[in-house]
Amino acid sequence: LNVLLLGNGGREHAMAWSIAKSDQLDTLFIAPGNPGTAEIGKNVDLSLDDFDGILSFVEEEDIDLTVVGPEQPLVAGITDFLESEGHKVFGPSKYAAQLEGSKKFANEFMSDNRIPTADFESYTRAQFDRALADIKAKDIYPVVLKADGLAGGKGVFICETEEEVEKRLEELKESDRFGGAADTLVVEEFLKGKEASVFVISDGKTAKIIHYAQDHKRIGEGDTGLNTGGMGAYAPTPVIGRRMLQRVEKEIILPTISAMLLDEHPYKGILYCGLMITTEGPKVVEFNCRLGDPECQAILPSLQSDFLDLMYAATEEKLHLKELKIDDQYRCCVVLASDGYPVEYEKGKEITGIKDVSDEALVFHAGTKAEDGKILTDGGRVLNVVASGETLQAAIKNTYKEVDKISFSNKYYRSDIGAKGLAYIDE
Ligand code: ATP
Repeated sequence: LNVLLLGNGGREHAMAWSIAKSDQLDTLFIAPGNPGTAEIGKNVDLSLDDFDGILSFVEEEDIDLTVVGPEQPLVAGITDFLESEGHKVFGPSKYAAQLEGSKKFANEFMSDNRIPTADFESYTRAQFDRALADIKAKDIYPVVLKADGLAGGKGVFICETEEEVEKRLEELKESDRFGGAADTLVVEEFLKGKEASVFVISDGKTAKIIHYAQDHKRIGEGDTGLNTGGMGAYAPTPVIGRRMLQRVEKEIILPTISAMLLDEHPYKGILYCGLMITTEGPKVVEFNCRLGDPECQAILPSLQSDFLDLMYAATEEKLHLKELKIDDQYRCCVVLASDGYPVEYEKGKEITGIKDVSDEALVFHAGTKAEDGKILTDGGRVLNVVASGETLQAAIKNTYKEVDKISFSNKYYRSDIGAKGLAYIDE
């Protein structure tokens, strides 16, 4: 098979690495890719919003399957566009991708189908005053305000007081920062519990759980400070035991896949279930229509089955014929970032030591660039280091041992990735 993978982050490097293990692969192209993916396949200089350019490339290179890494092209309809020209795409349709692309859509879908999630109310921009009045009348804090559309993690506010709600509403009302994303506002009940994510592959009819993980979104140790794209992850997480996983499947995954099928919009691709494990059971915090970054980097190395084969089978509605096998190792992924991220940081620092990392560990590139035979930092999140172990503790230890081997002058990382998993085991 000739494969075109869209994206350029750590997630896409991990996906490329996993796809490249398939004996069904002929040529792998990555658009636009990064210096890590360039070592595995051929990077192509295509922009992800240039759908016509992508179509021409797919036709010129006889691409058998286009795999979409990030959410934006899916929400913008890349799957419908390429499929209407007769090409296979792994990733949900524009309609199905609304489960991530519109929080109002996702909440209404869950409420219509009795899928457990937070209580919510949605408001148009003209109704923001009513939103404030409703929040004041309820007087329950914290309360969660969300811009309806994609805002790269920056459109969600957990407000502790009425004053904070007022301030955030003003920001959402006036700021251009959110583009059209804040034209609709979703107000949600705050869910208490432990967060975890479950990753599912679906062909529209059959859904299989790939794995489950825990992310570390905040920049600072102990989950403090600003939200980021994700500073590390580990899998599997003890927050989800065998029984809980069965509940997630029965109460969330299966009803979601069957309701989408019944609505005649079968969900094909990755379904990322961002969950809060509450005392009442699992509840959905968010759906995403693609693999998480950096969870993907901790999960795909555990996959014993052929990832490309599974994705291709999903596009052909043949997932029921495939076995999905995961090994029994724990894996930890630590993100090496540029100091100052997610606000302001310097780029262009030389990275050394990648070659010293043990063969048993993996280094996935994110914000890097190759120049004059050197690898330089070129973004906020720079590299992902992944290692495994028989226990979570061993996986964490093995990962940090490799983290120490890589240097660049403004290297920053959290030293507590996985610690909340260990604490949970001790509880
Ligand atoms: P964006 O669309 O801006 O990219 P996002 O998809 O990351 O944002 P969410 O996942 O909905 O937004 O929310 C981000 C984080 O906020 C969650 O990971 C969770 O920690 C917290 N959060 C969101 N909703 C709730 C809720 N109802 N109760 C408790 N915490 C929540």
